[in-house]
Amino acid sequence: MLQSYTKSVTLRPPLPRNPPALTLARLPLDETGVTAQVVRNERRTWLAALLVAVASAVQVAAGLAFGSVALVANGAHSGAHVAALAVAGAAYRVARANAHNPRLAHGAGRIGDLAAFANAVLLALAAFGLAVESVSRLVTPEVPDYPAALYAAAGGLALNLACMALLRPGAADRRDPSGDINLSAAHLHVAADAAVAALTLAGLFAAWRLGWTWADPVAALVGAGLIAHFAATILRRAGAALLDLRQSPALEAEVALRLEAAGLVAEDVRAWRTGAGRNAVAVRLRAPSHEAPAQVRRALEGLSGVSRISLDLT
Ligand SMILES: [Zn+2]
Repeated sequence: MLQSYTKSVTLRPPLPRNPPALTLARLPLDETGVTAQVVRNERRTWLAALLVAVASAVQVAAGLAFGSVALVANGAHSGAHVAALAVAGAAYRVARANAHNPRLAHGAGRIGDLAAFANAVLLALAAFGLAVESVSRLVTPEVPDYPAALYAAAGGLALNLACMALLRPGAADRRDPSGDINLSAAHLHVAADAAVAALTLAGLFAAWRLGWTWADPVAALVGAGLIAHFAATILRRAGAALLDLRQSPALEAEVALRLEAAGLVAEDVRAWRTGAGRNAVAVRLRAPSHEAPAQVRRALEGLSGVSRISLDLT
């Protein structure tokens, strides 16, 4: 009985390779979303992951060799960054592999947004962990091995600055505020880590030279606040993308204006992000004639940042 039931249910109904959607126009933008910019971003993310992995291994090895707990702890912490960068890199790979997957109604652009969201949750947890550790250090101060801890912090700062340079968004993503969220998430993460390393350096130095033992945990607490702020920024941006928030009033206005100029009356125009620099647009016209699809296509030809236009007939 069970067998016949499972047989009759198709969990993955076959979809046609080119679903007969209400797509009116395939405008010049790369339909798959795998642009040269995305390829560049993926390469740089993997390079940063490799750099952090090597640095992390060196720190752990040096820490074990010189008996420095601070260095080992720092190396292990860097290992978590390798995981975060690997998630970002893997998202690019998965998006590329699914660039033509017909099951993804709006293409594979969302995969990077999802990875960014997941990484931001981990970043928020890291901020919480750092805050808890800082407070416990304030309550029960520990005297660290200052030279080793300073070396570790300086190494971390140099590493994160190098990663920041690698992951700096390219010109196209900088121009477009809704650009590659996966890359900006990775960039913001290493920027937060660089700031924490700089604060730690200052705190450790003050504790070592001036005897201000509270300076190191206070610096870490400020760093935790900064990481939490960056995590919230990414959560908001990636969350807005994943929830299909309408974030392009200028694009919607431009579409309405162009339609009006073509003698069409748009009752509703909605634009939402489908990936880096890509938007889907849905248009509902008042009393559409049978020529409406062709008119809409002509009116919206060459509109930048639009990968799909649908005519809403509801
Ligand atoms: Zn980190």
